[in-house]
Amino acid sequence: MKEIGDFFSDFFDTNSFPPRWYCGRWSEFHGWLYIISDIAIWAAYFTIPFLLIHFIRRKKDVPFPKVFWLFSSFIFACGATHLIDAIIFWVPIYRVSAFVRLLTALVSWGTIIALYKILPHAFSLKTPAELEKQVKDRTAQLNKSFEKMRFLADAMPQMVWTARPDGYRDYYNQWALKFTGRTPEEMQGWNWADILHPDDREHSLKRWQESINNGTPYEIENRQRGANGQYYWQLSRAVPQLDENGNVLMWVGTATEIEQHKRAAEILEKTVAERTEQLRLVNAELRQSNSDLEQFAAIASHDLQAPLRTINSYLDMIRDRNKDVLDERSQTYITKAINAGNRMRNLIRSLLDYSRINTARIVLKEFNLNDTIDEVLANIEDIRKQKDAQIQVESLPVVYADELQISQLLQNLIANGINYNTSSAPVIRVSAKEEHNGFVISVTDNGIGIEEEHLQKIFEVFTRLSSEVKGSGLGLTISKRIVEKHNGRIWVESKVGEGTTFYFTIPKKKV
Ligand code: ADP
Repeated sequence: MKEIGDFFSDFFDTNSFPPRWYCGRWSEFHGWLYIISDIAIWAAYFTIPFLLIHFIRRKKDVPFPKVFWLFSSFIFACGATHLIDAIIFWVPIYRVSAFVRLLTALVSWGTIIALYKILPHAFSLKTPAELEKQVKDRTAQLNKSFEKMRFLADAMPQMVWTARPDGYRDYYNQWALKFTGRTPEEMQGWNWADILHPDDREHSLKRWQESINNGTPYEIENRQRGANGQYYWQLSRAVPQLDENGNVLMWVGTATEIEQHKRAAEILEKTVAERTEQLRLVNAELRQSNSDLEQFAAIASHDLQAPLRTINSYLDMIRDRNKDVLDERSQTYITKAINAGNRMRNLIRSLLDYSRINTARIVLKEFNLNDTIDEVLANIEDIRKQKDAQIQVESLPVVYADELQISQLLQNLIANGINYNTSSAPVIRVSAKEEHNGFVISVTDNGIGIEEEHLQKIFEVFTRLSSEVKGSGLGLTISKRIVEKHNGRIWVESKVGEGTTFYFTIPKKKV
C-alpha cells in the first residue's frame, strides 16, 4: 500500500531516473528515429478517434456506436503511451508512463470484451452485397405485384386510375383508355375534367378538391364524355391509401357506368309520377262518385219512404174495407204485399242510416258508456223480451267518442246477439278491457255462431247469412264504418253452435 501511496505522491517526480537520452548509448539517428516514429504514431492514433467519432456522429444509424466510442478511447490511449515514450527522452516521467499504460490495458480489455459480446450480432449484419441482393429481390417482388395490380385493373369493366396525394393522376387502366379513346402517352398530364359534362364539372371538381384537402373518400355521380362524343352517367369514386399517420400515400379511383341504371331510375320516376297523377285523378273521381252516391242514397231513401208509406196505407185500407168482398187468397196477397213494403221500409231506413254515417261529422266528447248502454237496452227491450234474453253488462269505462254513433254500434251488436240466437236461454255479455290508448269493448253471445269462412264477409254491404231473421245486411257495415271513423278496429271471433264475440276499440281520452 505504501508503495502505491509513494507512487502517486511522486507521480511527476523525475529525480529517480535519468532522461532516456542518457540511459544507454543512443546515437543521434537511433534516438531521433525512435522519437519521430513515436510522435508520428501518436499523431495518427490521436487523429483516428476524431475521425471515428466524426463518422458515428454523421452516420446516425451505424450499428454498435458504443463500441466505436470504446475503440476510439483505446486508440487514443495507445497514442498517449507513444507520446509519453517520446517525452521520456528529455523528461523521465516513468510513473505517468506506467499509469497511462495501465489505463490503455484496461480500455483495451474493455474493448475486447465489448467486441466479443457484439460479435454474434455483428455476424448477423448484412454485407453491402447481401443488402443489394435483398433490395433487388424486393424490387422484383414489387414489380411483380405492380404487374399483377395492372393486370387486375386492366381486366375490370370500369375505369380505374391512381393519383398522387395532390390529385395528379398517374395511371389509367385499359378501360379508361378505351372509354376516352386516348393512348397512355396522351393520358400523361391530361386534364380528366375536360370530359365532364358542363353541368356536372363544377360540382365534381369541388368535391374532388374537398377530398384531396381532407383525405376523405370521394363519391359522386356525373356524366363523362366517351370517345364517341356521347355522355354516359358514371359513378365516380376514389379512396385514399393512408400511411400509419393518416397521411395520403395515393388515391385509387374508379368510374363505373350507371347509364342503364340511371335511365331505369328516370323511367321509374316518370312512371311513378304518371301513376301518382293517374291515381290522384281516379281518387278525385272516386271521391266525387262516392259523394254523388251518398247523396243519391240519402235522397232516394228519404224520397222513397213517403210513396212507400202511401202504398202501404192504401193497401191496408183496401184490405180492411173489402174484408167481406175479397177472397182469402186475395187477402193473403195483400198481406204479403204489405209485409214486403214493411221490409222495404226497413231496408230504406238502414240505407239512410248508412249514408248518414258516411256523411255525418262525428262529434267527439267524453261520456260514460254505462249510461249509453242503459239507453241502448231500453231501445231493444222489445226484442229482448221476445227471446227472454239475459243481458249482462260489466262495469264500462268513460270514453271519448261520438255518443250517438257508439250507441248505434252497441245496439247493432247486442240486437244481433239476441236475433241470431237459438239458445233456450240467450245470454249477451258486454265487457271492456283497457289497452294502450283506449279500450277494447266486447259483445259476446251464446248464439248460432258464424262459420270461419264468413267472418270477414259479414262486414260487407248487404251480406246476410240467414234469411230466418229479418234484416238488411247493413248493420255490421254501418258498425264497421262507425269504428273506422273513430280510427279503431272491429273484429269477430266465433264458433258455430257455441257463440260469437265482436270486439271493437274505442279511444280513451282527448288526444
Ligand atoms: P243483418 O243483421 O241486418 O242481416 P248485419 O250486417 O248486422 O245484417 O249482419 C250480417 C250477417 O251476419 C247476418 O245476416 C248474420 O247472418 C250474421 N251475424 C251478425 N251477427 C251475428 C251473430 N251475433 N251471430 C251469428 N251471426 C251473426
